[in-house]
Amino acid sequence: MTDHATTDIGRLAAGLADGLIARRRDLHKYPETAWTEFRTASLAARALAAAGYAVRLGGEVVRRESMLGAPPAGELATHMERAAAQGGDPALIGRMAGGLTGVVGERCFGPGPVVALRFDMDANDLDEARDDGHRPHREGFGSVNAGAMHACGHDGHTAIGLGVAEILATLGDRLRGTVRLIFQPGEEGVRGAGPMADAGVLDGVDYLLGGHIGLRAPKTGQVVCGVEGFLATTKFDAVFTGMAAHAGAAPEQGRNALLAAANAALNLHAISRHGQGASRITVGTLHAGQGRNVIPAKAELQAETRGRTTEIDRFVFERAREVVAGAAMMYGVDHEIMVAGRSPSGRSDPGVVAVVRRAAEAMGCFSDIRDGVDMRASEDFALLLGAVQARGGLGAYLLLGSDLAAGHHNPRFDFDEACLVPGVELFARCAMACLNLPPRRG
Ligand SMILES: [Zn+2]
Repeated sequence: MTDHATTDIGRLAAGLADGLIARRRDLHKYPETAWTEFRTASLAARALAAAGYAVRLGGEVVRRESMLGAPPAGELATHMERAAAQGGDPALIGRMAGGLTGVVGERCFGPGPVVALRFDMDANDLDEARDDGHRPHREGFGSVNAGAMHACGHDGHTAIGLGVAEILATLGDRLRGTVRLIFQPGEEGVRGAGPMADAGVLDGVDYLLGGHIGLRAPKTGQVVCGVEGFLATTKFDAVFTGMAAHAGAAPEQGRNALLAAANAALNLHAISRHGQGASRITVGTLHAGQGRNVIPAKAELQAETRGRTTEIDRFVFERAREVVAGAAMMYGVDHEIMVAGRSPSGRSDPGVVAVVRRAAEAMGCFSDIRDGVDMRASEDFALLLGAVQARGGLGAYLLLGSDLAAGHHNPRFDFDEACLVPGVELFARCAMACLNLPPRRG
């Protein structure tokens, strides 16, 4: 890498400013939740192909058998139609049937390491604020899709990833090695990384980079060069099935699934803390019963466990299984537990954190550069990072500071678009630096 090339990155990134904001706002207006990112993924694939990348998508990069928590087929078909009606590429959407909404763009610039960058594309299950106090609504790019909102900044991540693709393509003759850009569905609920890893998208990867807007860095100008501790997490659904009966005439003939689920919810929150580190458990939804005078025969809850380490998360989840089984037994109802997502803990490699720090310092635009920050949240990037590390590769997860209108996953969430250009420049500089490191694998 020449000094000339790194100087050019800043100039090229600045030149993308208007396009990045337009792209981000377009994605924001048409948010798509996990496994339904048909429009987003098709537009990403089209942009990657236009920039000269070899594009793989659908079943080539998402292993269907590994998918957790996918919507039913009918719902997916409706989302495919909506994606096409909202400007997605119909031919590319067709190749992602079944919710296989991952995209990978790859370009080889010569001998050298394989450097992968991962960007997530999905929105949250949330209705966006619709009043003039909320800028996306006021400026006409608020969500038009009911029940879906980009409240975690993944619209920004996707825009940044496509900006990086463009810059690296422009600098192509000055690069070596191979760049692989991974556009991942279903980060929310930690569902997308596993099926992409299982499809082989990490094969041969020497260096892996990823990041997030605004998490643990809530001011524009801040950057965290490498996250220390992702929380391991397990998402699960529990279904209780009892017997309906007349609540007045013969309640003794019923078996009450609502009471079983309610008892489970209370006692899941009573699972012991762990002496070796932080743990969490949350029952996020609970639906039960069909009518006022009917003994409730069905109850469903959605819950999640988390742990500072994968072992702590596993401890909490195993206790949770016992609580659900015990509650079911108390009321004589059947139960079933379905795992809907899972991600390990993880940590960035110091060598790659140093690469990010050097790049951030060289840019001169960051006022607060840190590393060693504890993530205190889960991210299925940790699964990808662990898979790369297990095969001798290295990686880091950076946090890109941004002023925020409200916290992540809040209906008033919005980030400062001034972070987009530095985000593109930082990822592009890091990618170039990693392309000049020795391959990690023989
Ligand atoms: Zn996120």
